Amino acid sequence: MVSGPSGAGKGTVCKALREKRPDLKLSVSATTRQPREGELEGVHYFFKTQEEFAAMRERGEFLEWAQVYGNCYGTPVSFVKKTLEDGADMLLEIDIQGALNVKKAFPDAVTVFIVPPSLAILRKRLADRGTETEESLAIRCAAAEKELAFMDQYDYFVVNGELQDAVDEVNAIMTAEALKMGRNLFAYKTLVEGEELK
Ligand code: 5GP
Repeated sequence: MVSGPSGAGKGTVCKALREKRPDLKLSVSATTRQPREGELEGVHYFFKTQEEFAAMRERGEFLEWAQVYGNCYGTPVSFVKKTLEDGADMLLEIDIQGALNVKKAFPDAVTVFIVPPSLAILRKRLADRGTETEESLAIRCAAAEKELAFMDQYDYFVVNGELQDAVDEVNAIMTAEALKMGRNLFAYKTLVEGEELK
């Protein structure tokens, strides 16, 4: 799971990471936020009305959901379940409340906190994106400072200054996590049975 303040560049890091790891499945969230220019239904988000979102929530269709910057966001549980059953790796780009809730439900999940090199750079990135109104820019900047206080609850910390460095670091985290002994104990049986590991 990747989180961090808005403007830290999580989306860009995740996109580049998926180019390196095409097998990595991305969870597409539902949101009540209006689509930004270029955002596609089912690719970036499932765009829902307040009523549709509330109905999904009541039907228990979310693994977690949270209100972020005045809009609702939720992770559809069905896709996460299916991907994990298939044994594939999956990437969740969700806010801090959501990530910490998922970590409680799935303690094996790995959390990565992405920060900008400075709060001034974060503000500039958000403003340059040109997608925020003055009001939502101010909300996101104020929230960023508060969000930083949660970084100690994450497993890993990545500074997104140079994009490629940040992507390489998240990629290295995934490699190291996959090689943890606890995730590879099946190998013992394979080896003692004279089989070859893939
Ligand atoms: P944005 O509006 O910029 O796309 O996203 C705003 C925030 O909502 C970001 O921090 C993003 O990671 C978070 N977010 C996106 N989808 C979900 C979700 O399904 N659950 C939660 N808890 N946060 C989400």
